[in-house]
Amino acid sequence: MMAQYLEIKAEYPGALLFYRMGDFYELFFDDAVSAAEALDIALTKRGKHLGEDIPMCGVPVHSAENYLLTLIRKGFRVAVCEQMESPEEAKKRGSKSVVKRGVVRLVTPGTLTEESLLEARRHNYLASFAQVRGEGALAWVDISTGAFHVMSLAQVRLGPELARLAPSEVIVASEDDTDLGDIVTESGASVTELGRAAFDSTGGEKRLCELFDVGTLEAFGAFSRPEVAAMGAIVEYLEITQKGKLPLLQVPQREAQARVMQIDAATRRNLEITQAMSGGRAGSLLASVDRTVTAGGGRLLERRLSSPSRVMEVVQDRLESVDFAVEQSRFSEDLRGALRKVPDLDRALSRLGVDRGGPRDLAAIRNGLAQAAEIAGMVESVGLPKILAEAAIDLTGHDELLDLLDQALIAEPPLLARDGGFIAPGYDAELDEVRQLRDEGRGVIAAMQSEYQELTGIQSLKVKHNNVLGYFVEVTSTHADKMLSEPLNETFKHRQTTANQVRFTTVPLSEMETKILNAGGRALEIEKRLYDSLKAAILEVSAEVSQAARALAEMDLITGFADLARGENWCRPQVDESRALEIEGGRHPVVEQALRKAGEPFIANDCALGSESDIWLLTGPNMAGKSTFLRQNALIALLAQAGSFVPASSAHVGLVSQLFSRVGASDDLARGRSTFMVEMVETAAILNQADDHALVILDEIGRGTATYDGLSIAWATLEHLHDVNGCRALFATHYHELTNLSEKLTRVDNATVSVKEHEGEVIFLHEVKRGAADRSYGVQVAKLAGLPSAVVERARVVLDALEKGEREGGTAQKALIDDLPLFSATPPPAPKPVRESDLDKRIAEILPDDLTPREALNLIYELKGLA
Ligand code: ADP
Repeated sequence: MMAQYLEIKAEYPGALLFYRMGDFYELFFDDAVSAAEALDIALTKRGKHLGEDIPMCGVPVHSAENYLLTLIRKGFRVAVCEQMESPEEAKKRGSKSVVKRGVVRLVTPGTLTEESLLEARRHNYLASFAQVRGEGALAWVDISTGAFHVMSLAQVRLGPELARLAPSEVIVASEDDTDLGDIVTESGASVTELGRAAFDSTGGEKRLCELFDVGTLEAFGAFSRPEVAAMGAIVEYLEITQKGKLPLLQVPQREAQARVMQIDAATRRNLEITQAMSGGRAGSLLASVDRTVTAGGGRLLERRLSSPSRVMEVVQDRLESVDFAVEQSRFSEDLRGALRKVPDLDRALSRLGVDRGGPRDLAAIRNGLAQAAEIAGMVESVGLPKILAEAAIDLTGHDELLDLLDQALIAEPPLLARDGGFIAPGYDAELDEVRQLRDEGRGVIAAMQSEYQELTGIQSLKVKHNNVLGYFVEVTSTHADKMLSEPLNETFKHRQTTANQVRFTTVPLSEMETKILNAGGRALEIEKRLYDSLKAAILEVSAEVSQAARALAEMDLITGFADLARGENWCRPQVDESRALEIEGGRHPVVEQALRKAGEPFIANDCALGSESDIWLLTGPNMAGKSTFLRQNALIALLAQAGSFVPASSAHVGLVSQLFSRVGASDDLARGRSTFMVEMVETAAILNQADDHALVILDEIGRGTATYDGLSIAWATLEHLHDVNGCRALFATHYHELTNLSEKLTRVDNATVSVKEHEGEVIFLHEVKRGAADRSYGVQVAKLAGLPSAVVERARVVLDALEKGEREGGTAQKALIDDLPLFSATPPPAPKPVRESDLDKRIAEILPDDLTPREALNLIYELKGLA
């Protein structure tokens, strides 16, 4: 057996081998060591190999899925090796024969299909990147839904595209340049290397033609060689991992970069589009706008928000449909009611396709198609706009399959086909007959109990069943003697004595049992056959079923957007080819919802780029709402192009080609590189790429370095955006000096978030208005944050001195600082004596001139903790 194990294991060096032995998957050697640690299960040993103990651990087959999930999440791949014959069959071949085994599947992050291993509302993409003579292409597939896409893509654009798609696994050629692996790893996906041969475009074309059963790929469009190579590699990899059982794939869709808004990884992170900074979905734009009621609709929403369109017609069609659903609120609510009952058709279909499905997947198809038919009926007489009308057509035409499944299946079938009991009575005459035989047999056995009670005169006699004895008669030990002597011992054959019971069998009981078993086995066989034929009937029209699934998802998304627009009072944006970003009464969807929970109002603000100015330079104290304002305008453009209404009272959005958002360095500490360096690299990317239809959001760029460096960098960046890129931009800064630039740069305007000062305290109004902030109110903010009053007072004195110094020339500054009394004239009312020495110590360490505003704020919190 070890020889067989080692032989199989040698074929899968990069994976853990789950080696099936009866009811367990066993792991040996290093596999066992790593799996035991990752799964936190016991590591044991079994036998010896080359004189050493063999480490071993195992997981029960029935709960293997959970263990698989843990291992995949922790970055392992798992080769599942099954027994291909029963031990009896092996014995027939010779007494010492080992049961034949083979790997049936290689489980990797990108090739999951099980419901329990997937997130319902997220795609699970497997991608592959190919290069042929310097030209690149990216293909990606979700085998749990069958979606298959490809696009031409230069390597430099790979990072941003991976950020958009967020695949869980990416295939690259093993000989390709090593940077590729880094780009993939950076995106959070796991890297899989395949040999060059898998990326051969001629071989790829052949594989694809076979898969889709066509003579030439041209049937689906004109694909470039790298595109064919990338798709071919995916198919090759699926063949390897699925062991020839290829999943149902849809015809590849060609995507063009030019058709979607370009958003790079840093921007996605900053704007928290599908994931919040904290990593989860909660707090993201996606979570706050998701009103979909089906898993398919949820996935479509994520796709749309990740890739907003930049094609006028597409955007208009989507908005038109949402508008219709907003107006027809009754209709749209009814539709949502019906959609709620739609199961996950895509995933049921794909499980059936790779033969990992069960009766519940058949039922999901039935229920989904039934709902589709009902919805088609609801929309029949309504004059629908284009997208909804097209979707409605795809919902019809499944009557034949639906009737078949309706007749064949019971209402709520069990999970596993092998247990039987899912085919409805009346569907198959033969099945009904053997089922009757089986059930009657059970009745006869129940009758035998009373017969035997009478015969023996023992009222407590029972007929029972277990796996060892089958059906048997059981009496308590007190009746043993009577049963074991004549005449009863002729009928009742003794089989077993336990502590309190004695058990017997009889000939009629055994005969009946055989009949029941035969009938039961026969019933299972028939059900299995019927299962296969129903599955085949579904797969025959899989393309149509997935078309219906797409249509349902589209309707869900549109009515979900409509529900959101009504509930949140959003408006339909006017989208055109201009360069406008004119928003009245704009709000930040996520912040607004969070404030509402806290019972606070959100102050709506206007933005007007494109007509008089392209760039707004926004100043104002910390916490005034600058970041919120910047992001809300970017999100409004993004939502509009995703086809949604927007959080504003009116919005005019000229199509945005690229969206960039950057935040000054100190927000980004988690990433480990020199943060200032990161900030500059990212800013460089914008200055090099942004075209005149781009929208750029820069928040405190330059603050990651010393004041004058930062100011100069911010200054030069602003000039470059204005003179060279000619894009629209919102630029928040605490360098008030920059506001003078608006006099020189014609298309730059100043704006500020206003605050009111009242008896030495600031009140945030969160109102954005034209003009520059007069001062930064840092000291007041510090006071608000609860900085001890001694520190606030001291800061005021220093500030006054500094400002005076500035007015009187820089050289005087230092002297002034040196001259300042350590504590100002008014002695501080001793705050809290506790741990004051810590506080003093920490304050002594502070070098105010070296602090960025962000660091200062963090420091305030720290000091507050010490006080
Ligand atoms: P800044 O970037 O100027 O430091 P933020 O944009 O981070 O300020 O906003 C600070 C806080 O102020 C936010 O967390 C939010 O609670 C509140 N806020 C921001 N904008 C608004 C607004 N328009 N209406 C109400 N509250 C707001």
